[in-house]
Amino acid sequence: MIVVQDMIKRFGGFHAVDGVSLEIAQGEITGLIGPNGAGKSTLFNLIAGVHQPTSGRVTMAGEDITGLPPHVLFSKGLLRTFQIAHEFSSMTVLENLMMVPGNQQGETLWNAWFRRGAIAQEERRLRDKAEGVLDFLTLSHLRDEKAGNLSGGQKKLVELGRTMMVDAKIVFLDEVGAGVNRTLLKTIGEAIVRLNKERGYTFCVIEHDMDFIARLCHSVIVMAQGKVLATGAPDEIIRNEQVIEAYLGT
Ligand code: ADP
Ligand code: MG
Repeated sequence: MIVVQDMIKRFGGFHAVDGVSLEIAQGEITGLIGPNGAGKSTLFNLIAGVHQPTSGRVTMAGEDITGLPPHVLFSKGLLRTFQIAHEFSSMTVLENLMMVPGNQQGETLWNAWFRRGAIAQEERRLRDKAEGVLDFLTLSHLRDEKAGNLSGGQKKLVELGRTMMVDAKIVFLDEVGAGVNRTLLKTIGEAIVRLNKERGYTFCVIEHDMDFIARLCHSVIVMAQGKVLATGAPDEIIRNEQVIEAYLGT
């Protein structure tokens, strides 16, 4: 689904991503692992249009998407989750979900005055959809809680929920498990598996917890020092000596 070819990203003279080629198969959950500073987040940002590559190419289902801005990729169903921005923390969980879809009606005064009926209908549709998402993620009890009051793990679930408000095809998750307790990490893992199985989402997940990676992922890509070190099934990867060395060597 995603093919990355010879991707390079330099910051000054430093090669954060140093000639990466890889593929993310449609319908799979792909893990991206590697020691800190390996270039994983930079690679995500290159694919998701947050950074421009120094050189290299990304295609999605055969279409060249190199360097397209995030909102264009978003409309194609390629999403990278971001932490809930500060300005949304005083909004409720439900409102955070309802904010996601673009092109909402009701943005102009003209619309507000002449199309009140349509706006109310659109708002009901969004509300119903958001409530369905909360139900799916077992977050309904937090519907009216301010997003800023959620735990780290609950916020991650809401971020995942935001991808369900649009027609996502592929979702990039950076360190889903960071600062998340075991129980919630399990819930997040289950939500990812269900979205993959039931809704056909393709995932690429950066995560340090190897149990989580081994349980969830169909294949794993290992990066170290800006390069791809190994690719394979999770059980092969954990026994790969180069991989073990990369982790122990840093
Ligand atoms: P990872 O996510 O694998 O821990 P990153 O992609 O965040 O690694 O970073 C890879 C390297 O690139 C690190 O050495 C980091 O310091 C550097 N780097 C990342 N972003 C920038 C930036 N905006 N400017 C300069 N250096 C950066
Ligand atoms: Mg990172």
